Amino acid sequence: MLTKAPRGTKDILPKQSYKWHYVENAVREIAERFGYSEIRTPIFEHTELFERSIGETTDIVGKEMYTFEDRGERSITLKPEGTAPVVRALIENKLYADAQPTKLYYITPIFRYERPGAGRYRQHHQFGIEVFGAINPAVDVEVMHLAMSVYKKLGLKNLELRINSVGCPKCRVKYNELLKQFLEPKLDNLCGTCHTRYEKNPMRIIDCKNDSCQVQVENVPLMLDNICEECSSHFEGVKKYLKIIGIDFVVDPKIVRGLDYYTKTAFEILSDEQGKKGTLCGGGRYDELVKQCGGPKTPGIGFGMGLERLIASLETQGIEIPKPKQPDIFIVTMSDEAREKGYKIIAELRDEGILSRIDYLDRSVKAQFKYANKVNARFRIILGEEELKNETVTLKDSLTSINEELTLDELAIKIKEKLGRA
Ligand code: ATP
Ligand code: MG
Repeated sequence: MLTKAPRGTKDILPKQSYKWHYVENAVREIAERFGYSEIRTPIFEHTELFERSIGETTDIVGKEMYTFEDRGERSITLKPEGTAPVVRALIENKLYADAQPTKLYYITPIFRYERPGAGRYRQHHQFGIEVFGAINPAVDVEVMHLAMSVYKKLGLKNLELRINSVGCPKCRVKYNELLKQFLEPKLDNLCGTCHTRYEKNPMRIIDCKNDSCQVQVENVPLMLDNICEECSSHFEGVKKYLKIIGIDFVVDPKIVRGLDYYTKTAFEILSDEQGKKGTLCGGGRYDELVKQCGGPKTPGIGFGMGLERLIASLETQGIEIPKPKQPDIFIVTMSDEAREKGYKIIAELRDEGILSRIDYLDRSVKAQFKYANKVNARFRIILGEEELKNETVTLKDSLTSINEELTLDELAIKIKEKLGRA
């Protein structure tokens, strides 16, 4: 127990972390390109926030939240998704009073008590964005374009954008009636959770992961065929703008999404790895959520993009991720006196911005050279008897095999010159 990470979690080790930096830098660059600013909200919130926003008939609230009582007897929940905390922050800090729309992004850990499996963890990470204050379908398309741009920048292929409209509270009431009529004779074959869904939010049944429930909803009436004028013209707008900017998509009327707060647009981006589809990104519009959480009526749209799955897809598609920087220099010392001088030189070189390494384990000269090779340093700086006497060092270029004796004053300048950083 003591030396095992909790089930469903994993360490991001030094051999992996550079991939995370690469992906995080890419998403930040894209977010900035589209005019989004970062927001960081706490890792935990009051449980009520998630219960009220995500919805009690969802898997997340029903069985996936990490909820506990803190020492002040408040019910606290680790962030199971990114949108609700941002909505809370928007209201609390009155961000809606700034020039609209408010365009935000975040990179955050997400906690869900799920059955761990391929691409499924109990702590995962999402890059997410949220836009508030604009109902224009062009914004929905901006959000989808942003997600696709991240994948494009990273070189990911075989992606599919699927879109749907899940309607609004107006058309949902009528649709729910229709759905209930259809489902009533099938109730006996639905799971227990779906019985609750039937009463509270029948549309969620379409999203049930239970195979036997899936059979029952095969020919279910679709929200998309029953949306109101307003939702329909909004959806037409989304399709029109996607076509204008040349993003391929398919309409998938069965996308419901795992959160209750979605209205109108819902979308997913799937990757197709040798016929095995995985969801890389999910999002949608939530025009009622801010009001529902106690703020002024403010439309919103956003997405959450899983970073573990993104990195796994990069790996399966064999996409090259630039390796971390190698050290510029390694100082090899040939005596105790040289070693002391080496510590002084390395401090100076580091102050000059040179990526520098030295041995701290009293390695033999031979072992120091071996270690310098292992860490792949471009230059070796050799400090022996001769160099100490002359107050110089020998700079050995591993690329050209040229050796030069240099004074300490010229050392940093020379290295930078050779590295093209002068
Ligand atoms: P799924 O249908 O795979 O459970 P979801 O609909 O629950 O996904 P969202 O809540 O939309 O997922 O989260 C957005 C993205 O976060 C997903 O598309 C996926 O890439 C990633 N994600 C969700 N849950 C997990 C998890 N448990 N482990 C790793 N990544 C996840
Ligand atoms: Mg899920």
